[in-house]
Amino acid sequence: MMGGMRFVHDSLPQRVCFGSGEAATHLRDEIGRLGASRVMVIAAEPESSLAEKIIAEVPVVLRYHDVVMHVPVEVADRARAAAAAAGADVVVSVGGGSTTGLAKAIAMTSGLPVIAVPTTYAGSEATAVWGLTSGDVKTTGTDPKVLPRVVVYDATLTLSLPADMSVASGLNALAHCVDSLWAPNADPINAAFASEGIRALATGLPQVVAEPAGLPGREHALYAAYLSAVAFASAGSGLHHKICHVLGGKYNLPHAQTHAVVLPYVLAFNAPAAPLAAGRVAESFGTGNAVAGLQELRARLNAPRALGDYGFEEAAIPAAAAAILPSVPPSNPRPVTQEDLEALLRAAWAGAEPQPA
Ligand code: NAD
Repeated sequence: MMGGMRFVHDSLPQRVCFGSGEAATHLRDEIGRLGASRVMVIAAEPESSLAEKIIAEVPVVLRYHDVVMHVPVEVADRARAAAAAAGADVVVSVGGGSTTGLAKAIAMTSGLPVIAVPTTYAGSEATAVWGLTSGDVKTTGTDPKVLPRVVVYDATLTLSLPADMSVASGLNALAHCVDSLWAPNADPINAAFASEGIRALATGLPQVVAEPAGLPGREHALYAAYLSAVAFASAGSGLHHKICHVLGGKYNLPHAQTHAVVLPYVLAFNAPAAPLAAGRVAESFGTGNAVAGLQELRARLNAPRALGDYGFEEAAIPAAAAAILPSVPPSNPRPVTQEDLEALLRAAWAGAEPQPA
């Protein structure tokens, strides 16, 4: 009898060095392995002291701090010119997704290798996806050149991330996991990463909230951030990411919090039409129902609740829905109409309890 399992999966070539308190050593050794000797270090002003802690043994030619969320093209162009003027032969980013994103923008046009040292759970470090913003339009694309050659994970660098930001960022990672189950290139390998990512976040995030200065929860969350990004990188953007992409780019809403708020509504919308994916999510939460599992975790974490809390206005809902509609992936488990999107956004704007539609 013929089996039914069929898929094509791309694994991205990347080295991952993981160890609490080991970033300085890993960074020195990995720069040596790349044969690089002129390092551009990018860290936003608030993370520059974290960066200083780990670059003592690194040949730095430029310290760069001009980081802006969603990487405006002018900011990217300035950083590219600075890298060229300094003669950098490797870019090290120390920070969240915005900082990694700027390093990727440099790699995109120069081909310089990037070593990413993430300090949030955004996961940009494990994808070949770049993002640039021009005015209120955010453009993303995929280019193997922007995939960091090496990721250095060190949970001690995340201890300063406040509990509420850690929760939002961790739920951003959870959204990568869930959305990858029905994204255009969803496959069983992504699903395995996603399941383990959800499990590790459900274990780690409550520990981060209970004990923000403790390492075990932070390590779980960082490990999960990597898994979630690998699943997302291979599966592509599903409905959830298409919605958040428009909300972030067009309405300038904060990235992690937007993902954290929107996820339960997308899960409640898709779950009835995607029983296998919903079953996997539920199983990873250790519960019988995916939405209930997510909502229980969110309640324990005091998670971001409503888009209205982040400056999104009710009057913007029809236009936002219209902007999202053309990008809804045909792979979505159920068809999506303008009315569906308006209802979903209205519930997310108000922070209403997500209902299966
Ligand atoms: P961010 O990088 O903008 O950081 C958010 C805030 O946290 C900033 O104020 C920053 O200074 C602060 N911060 C970061 N690390 C800290 C630490 N350890 N301690 C204290 N404060 C800290 O936000 P983000 O959520 O990490 O990333 C969002 C951006 O990343 C968005 O632009 C998003 O589009 C992009 N992103 C891209 C991909 C991709 O695959 N290309 C994936 C995920 C996110």
